[in-house]
Amino acid sequence: MTERRPGVFRLRFSQFVEGEFRRVYAEANYSKTRPILVIGAAAIFLSLIVTVMRETLSWQTAAFMLGVMLPTLMATLVASYKEGAHASYQTLLALTALWIGLFCTSLTVRASLHGAPYYFGAEVAWIFLVWLVLGLHFWYAAAVALTISAMYVWGMVHWQIPVQEAVFSGLTLLVVNLIGACCCFQLESAVRRAFLESWMLNDLAERDGLTGLYNRRRYDRDVEKLWRQSRRDQSQLTLLLVDIDHFKAFNDLYGHQAGDDALKRVAEVIATCAQRPLDFAARFGGEEFALVLYGPAQDFGREIPEMLRRSVEEQKIPHAESTTGPWLTVSVGVAIVSPGNERSLAGAIQLADEALYQAKEEGRNRIVVKESKNAYIQTGRFRAAPAKGGA
Ligand code: GH3
Ligand code: MG
Ligand code: MG
Repeated sequence: MTERRPGVFRLRFSQFVEGEFRRVYAEANYSKTRPILVIGAAAIFLSLIVTVMRETLSWQTAAFMLGVMLPTLMATLVASYKEGAHASYQTLLALTALWIGLFCTSLTVRASLHGAPYYFGAEVAWIFLVWLVLGLHFWYAAAVALTISAMYVWGMVHWQIPVQEAVFSGLTLLVVNLIGACCCFQLESAVRRAFLESWMLNDLAERDGLTGLYNRRRYDRDVEKLWRQSRRDQSQLTLLLVDIDHFKAFNDLYGHQAGDDALKRVAEVIATCAQRPLDFAARFGGEEFALVLYGPAQDFGREIPEMLRRSVEEQKIPHAESTTGPWLTVSVGVAIVSPGNERSLAGAIQLADEALYQAKEEGRNRIVVKESKNAYIQTGRFRAAPAKGGA
C-alpha cells in the first residue's frame, strides 16, 4: 500500500485507486460547480439578449455562444447528475471553462482596444476560478488556464495593444498563473493525501488481521452487491465455503502459532483462486473461508473448487492427526446459483453450507457441488430436492 503514497505528489494513484479518487472528487465538487454553471448559462443568455438588442453582436459570436458554449455547459450540468459520468464530467467541465475563458479573452481584448482596459479584471478572476474553484484536476486546470492566457497574449500582439498595458497584463497573467498553479497543486496533493488515508483506514477495517483477506463484514456487503449485479446481468454466482479439516487437532498437536501459520498459507491459496475482477475471497470466521466467483459456472464451477482443494493438499503442511492423509486438507461446499426473484442470498449461502456439511460427512478433503436448480426453496432457504419417488 505504501507504494501508492508517491501518487499524492505525482497527482496520480494506481489505476483502481485513481478511479475511486476521481469519482469521490467529482462528487464532492458537484455542489460547488453547479451554481457556477447555472450562473454561467444565465450570463450567456443575458449577454446574448443585451447584445442582440443593441445590435453589437457578430453572427460568429452568436453562433459560438449558442452552438458551442451553451451545449457544452448544459452537457456538463447533465453529467453532474448522471451516475458514473464523472470521467466525462471533468472533460466537459474543462471544455466549458475553456470556452468561457476564450469568450472572456475576446471581450477583454476588444474592450482594451476601445479604451476600457479594466475588463481585464474579469480575465484574471476567471483564471483564478479555473485554478482554484471549479475543482478541475491540476493538469486539466493547467491546460485550460494556459490556453486562455496564451490566447490573451496572442490577442494583445495581434491587435497591437499599447506596450505599457501589454507588459502590465502579461506580467499579471504570469503571476496569477504561478500562484494559481502552486495553490492548485498543493490543494490537490492535500485532498489526495486525505483520500488515501481514509481509503487505507477503511480498507484496513475491512480486512482480517491474520490472513489479510476481507473480513465477514466486507464479505456480507460485497456478496450482496454481487448478488444484485448477477440478478441484473442474469448471470450466475458460485459460492464456496472452505473449512480446514481437523483443525482443532492440528492446533492441539502443533500449537496455536503453527495453526496461525497454516491459516495464512491456506488463505494465500484461496486468494489466488479469486483472480478475475469481481471474484473475491474472505475469512468467514475461525478456520472457515468463503470465495465468491462471478459468471457462468460451466466455465469454472467445478474446476476452481477442485484446484483449491488440491492446492491446499500440495502445500504439504504436515498433519499427523488427520484422517484424510499426512497433510492438512480442506473440505469445500459449493453452491451454484442463478439469482432471480425466487432465490434469496441467505438461501444460497445455506445451500453452500449444506454442501460443506455433506463434504465433511462423506469423509472430508473433498468438494460437494450443489446447484440451485436442483434444490427446492422453503421460506426463502434452499433445501435439498427430494429425489423422484420421494427418496
Ligand atoms: P472439522 O474437520 O469437522 O472441521 O474439525 P475441526 O477441528 O476443524 O473443527 P472445529 O470447529 O471443532 O475446530 C475449529 C478449530 O479452529 C478450533 C480453533 O482452535 C481453531 N481456530 C479457529 N480460529 C483460529 C485462529 O485464528 N488461529 C488458530 N491457530 N486456530 C483457530
Ligand atoms: Mg469450522
Ligand atoms: Mg474445520
